Amino acid sequence: KCLWEDVEMAPEDPILGVTLAYNKDTSAVKLNLGVGAYRTEEGKPFVLESVRKAEAILAADRSRNKEYLPITGLAAFNKLSRELILENDCPALVENRVATIQCLSGTGSLRVGADFLAAHYPNAAIYLPDPTWGNHKGIFPASGLCMKKYRYYNSQSRGLDIEGMIKDLKSAPSGSVVLLHGCAHNPTGVDPLPEQWEVIRQVIRDKGHLPFFDCAYQGFASGDLSQDAAAVRSFAGDGGELLIAQSFAKNMGLYGERVGALSVVCRSEVIAKKLESQVKIIIRKMYSSPPIHGASIVTTVLGDKELREEWMSELRGMANRIIQMRKQLYDALILRETPGDWSHILNQIGMFTYSGLNKEQVAVMTRDYHVYMTSNGRISMAGLSPSTVPHLADAIHAAVT
Ligand code: PMP
Repeated sequence: KCLWEDVEMAPEDPILGVTLAYNKDTSAVKLNLGVGAYRTEEGKPFVLESVRKAEAILAADRSRNKEYLPITGLAAFNKLSRELILENDCPALVENRVATIQCLSGTGSLRVGADFLAAHYPNAAIYLPDPTWGNHKGIFPASGLCMKKYRYYNSQSRGLDIEGMIKDLKSAPSGSVVLLHGCAHNPTGVDPLPEQWEVIRQVIRDKGHLPFFDCAYQGFASGDLSQDAAAVRSFAGDGGELLIAQSFAKNMGLYGERVGALSVVCRSEVIAKKLESQVKIIIRKMYSSPPIHGASIVTTVLGDKELREEWMSELRGMANRIIQMRKQLYDALILRETPGDWSHILNQIGMFTYSGLNKEQVAVMTRDYHVYMTSNGRISMAGLSPSTVPHLADAIHAAVT
């Protein structure tokens, strides 16, 4: 008998598996709207010009080497990252009480944060919005945290279930960890309004819960870095603790570079220092230290006035293109008189439209129209272009009629 003969074949990841199925399809009209990666109008991956320029600067600099980074990553990157998500004059920054650690993109930042909580905030469950990004349900239990959910989305109104959410946060045991999407909630595209955020913040603070913000889309939702960081900033501004996982995958198009950061806002500089020392122990055992290239790109772009401005304009361009796609898809469905109310396509925020299409309807779209998306009906708008909108509208029309 061979070793591992009885090991079962694991299922594909529900999101990444969509791309595998798409790759096997030989149809000329096939369309991949599964994974959340930005595409140009021609459907091609996009390397930002600001990133290319930063890479040229880095390549020309003969003084650079490939020594190990410290366990916590590139110090300049960490500083620029926390200044990007928080405000420059935020008391937590001024008082030096934010510990920031370069991690492997958003996923790695969440996972290091989860491992830290498992070691230094034990016995607390983490509450996730229902629904949430599928990988959250993998990451937190993998660190040994107990996972619970709070109501978030109302499928009737296709909006936020604010009452359910507040009730669930109030009835969670004091001191629970609450995972929040900083902006552009994935998969629903539904974010609380500013006044709803304020109510959420008060309940979380009143109950002594610990907020953990997943910020994978800063600047990508509205095109405006401050607007997309407003919720996180209000929590950071109230003096209480919070964790922040940042990713540069989407907003700088650095998907495969795996660059992100975990920041922990503490109540004092001394605590932040102690905490960083503990996170170092976790990382040393896991992957020792993070990669250098992506963090150097981010540092070069954010640290140079001109490159930073160019990046912000490219970011606005990406966000606006997605907003345009929403309008075009909506218009195309109206033109076809597709039954149903499609206004949520216009109202939802960020990369995805949570279409309301069910598993069977998605299966029809894939079978008859070669349109690939996750079975929960989530459409990555970033994968759409003016030339493919009519095909998608035809597919949706056929699936619902
Ligand atoms: N959180 C959410 C909600 C996401 O949608 C993503 C990307 N799909 C991530 C985190 C992290 O992605 P990455 O690890 O590529 O930065």
